[in-house]
Amino acid sequence: MRTFKLLVVGAGAAGISAALAAWDAGCRDVLLLDRAESMGGILPQCLHEGFGLTTFGQELTGPEYTARLAEKLAGTGVVFLPGTEVLSVSEERIAVLSRRGAVERLRFERLILASGCRERSIGSLPVAGTRPAGIFTAGQAQERINLRHQDLGDEILILGSGDLGMIMARRFTLGGKHVIAVLEQAVQYGGMARNHRRCIEAFSIPLRCRMTVREIHGEGRIRGVTAEHIDSGEREFIACDTLVTALGLIPERELVRGLEDRDWLSLVGNCHHVHDIVDSAAAEAARIGSLVGKRLAV
Ligand SMILES: Cc1cc2nc3c(=O)[nH]c(=O)nc-3n(C[C@H](O)[C@H](O)[C@H](O)COP(=O)(O)OP(=O)(O)OC[C@H]3O[C@@H](n4cnc5c(N)ncnc54)[C@H](O)[C@@H]3O)c2cc1C
Repeated sequence: MRTFKLLVVGAGAAGISAALAAWDAGCRDVLLLDRAESMGGILPQCLHEGFGLTTFGQELTGPEYTARLAEKLAGTGVVFLPGTEVLSVSEERIAVLSRRGAVERLRFERLILASGCRERSIGSLPVAGTRPAGIFTAGQAQERINLRHQDLGDEILILGSGDLGMIMARRFTLGGKHVIAVLEQAVQYGGMARNHRRCIEAFSIPLRCRMTVREIHGEGRIRGVTAEHIDSGEREFIACDTLVTALGLIPERELVRGLEDRDWLSLVGNCHHVHDIVDSAAAEAARIGSLVGKRLAV
C-alpha cells in the first residue's frame, strides 16, 4: 500500500493553497487529488472577473486564478492526481480511492480535507407541484452554460439573491435571455453589495424582496410558478420556462463524518465554512497547510 505523509483531498483554491503551503513549510511528501479531471474546483466555471484582489492584487477570472495557482504548484514536488475520488477515509488513516475504474487504498499520516460545498436544492423548501424539466440550481446552470455551452431556456426566474443568484442573473442577461426577476425572501439582497451593484443594478434586473415560490406548474417542462408575497400572503402566477434556485451552500464533509475531532485531520475552504471570496478560502487553507507542513517537515 502506498503511503503519503500528507494527503490533501480536493484541488480547488483551498486544497491547492494548503498543499503549496505545506510544501513551502518543508513537507516533501504531499499528495493532492481531485475527482475532477483538472484542478480549480468551482473556479473554472466562474468566467466572470472578481477573483484574487487580495492574493494577486488584481481582479482575475476563475480560470485565470486557477492558472496562477497551477503555475505555483508546478514549481513544487507536490504530486497531483486528477480523476481520483476518495470514497472513504477510516480511523486507521487509510483512504479508499477510485481512479479510472480501479479501487486503490493508501495510507496517510495527516489529512487535509478541502472538498468544497454543495448547493441546497429546491427539495429543501416546502414547494408544491412536481419537478418538471427546466429547474436548475445556480451552480448547475453556471456549469452547463459556461463549460458545456448549453441553452437552458429563455424566460428565467431566479429564486435567491445570494452572490450566486445575482451572478447568474447577470450571466443569463448577458447571454440574451430575459430574467423576469430575482425573488428574495429577506428584506434585501443576500450577497455582497459589489455583486448587487454589478449584476442587478447595472442591468436593471428586478429584485423582488419578501417573496418566495410556493408551487411549481408545468408537465414535462416548467411553465410558471405561484409566488407568494410573504408579508401579505398574496399569491401571483409568474410565467417562466426556467427556474434557477440559489438557496445557499452547505459545507461538504460527509467523507469524515464521525472523525471530525481527530488530531490528524484539518478542514479548509468551503468544506470548513462557506467563503464569499476565494482569497479568504485560500488564505485560511494556506495558514493551516503551513502549520501541518511544519509538523511533517523532515
Ligand atoms: C458560483 C460562485 C461564484 C463565486 N464568485 C466569486 C467571486 O466573484 N470572487 C471571489 O473571490 N469568490 C467567489 N466565489 C467564492 C470562491 O470561488 C470559493 O469560495 C472558493 O473557490 C472555494 O474553494 P474550495 O477549494 O473550498 O472549494 P471548491 O472550489 O468547491 O473545490 C472543492 C474540490 O474538491 C473536490 N472533491 C470534493 N469531494 C471529493 C472527493 N471525495 N474526492 C476527490 N475530490 C473531491 C471537488 O471536485 C472540487 O474540485 C464564488 C463561488 C461560487 C460557487
